[in-house]
Amino acid sequence: MVEPGLITAAALDAVRPLIVAGTTTLQLDAAAAAVIASRGAQSNFQMVRGYRHTVCVSVNDEVVHGIPGDRVLEPGDIVSVDAGAEYRGWNGDSAITVVVPDPARPELVADRAELSRVTEGSLWAGIAALATASHLAEVGAAVQAFIEASGHDYGILRDYVGHGIGRKMHESPAVFNYRVPDSGPEVRPGLAVAIEPMIVTGSAVTSVGDDGWTVSTVDGSAGSHWEHSVAVHDDGIWVLTAPDGGAAGLAPFGIEPTPIG
Ligand code: MG
Ligand code: MG
Repeated sequence: MVEPGLITAAALDAVRPLIVAGTTTLQLDAAAAAVIASRGAQSNFQMVRGYRHTVCVSVNDEVVHGIPGDRVLEPGDIVSVDAGAEYRGWNGDSAITVVVPDPARPELVADRAELSRVTEGSLWAGIAALATASHLAEVGAAVQAFIEASGHDYGILRDYVGHGIGRKMHESPAVFNYRVPDSGPEVRPGLAVAIEPMIVTGSAVTSVGDDGWTVSTVDGSAGSHWEHSVAVHDDGIWVLTAPDGGAAGLAPFGIEPTPIG
C-alpha cells in the first residue's frame, strides 16, 4: 500500500498549487487524473458506483463529496480536495484543504485558515493516537479532544466517518472522529485505516445536494476535510499518503513513524 499512497500524495501535490482564483474545479480533477494515469494507477473514486470523477472538490459550505465542474474558484474560498488511487490492487485515500488568498478580506481568510489548521491538527492527533492505541476508538477520542482544546466551537460531522482501506478503498471498520461508547476493534499489525476528520465552523448538521453527492452544512458554515491512509505494522505506524511517512505531522506529538519492512 506504500505505492498507491505515494501516488495519491503526488496527485494532491499536483492539485495544491492550482487552488487559486480563476481555476475551475474540473481543472483540479484533470490535474489529479493526469498524475494517477502517468504512474500507471487507476482512480479508485471512479470505481465508486455512480461517481465519474477522480477527485471530490468541496468549496465553502460544502464539506465533502463535491463534484468537479465548471465552478470557478474565487478569492477567500476554502477548498477541500479528496483524492485516491488504486495501484496493483491496493488503495490510497487522502484529502487536503486550501484557502484561496483574498487581500480584501483578511479576517475571513484568517478564520478559514484557522479552521483548516485545526482540522489538520486533529487528523495528526488521531494518527498519533493510533500509534499507541490498544483499540480503534482512541483515534476518534483524540480527534475530538484536539478540536475541543482549540478553543473553537467547531462542529464535527457525525454522518460521515473514516474507514478501513486495503484491497478496496472503503472497508470496515468505521473510524469515528468523535468519542464513542464502544472501544472498537483491537489495533494490531495489519490494520490500515483512512482517518478523515470533517470539521465545520458551525453546526455539524448537513444535507446532500440535488446532485446526489455534495454534502453541505445546513447553516452555511464553512467546512474543512483532511485525510490520510495509515498502516499499523510490526514495527509501528507509517502514514502511507505522506511522502515522509508522517514524520513532520507526528513530531509535535512525540511520535516517530517507522518505515514498513
Ligand atoms: Mg478520501
Ligand atoms: Mg476516505
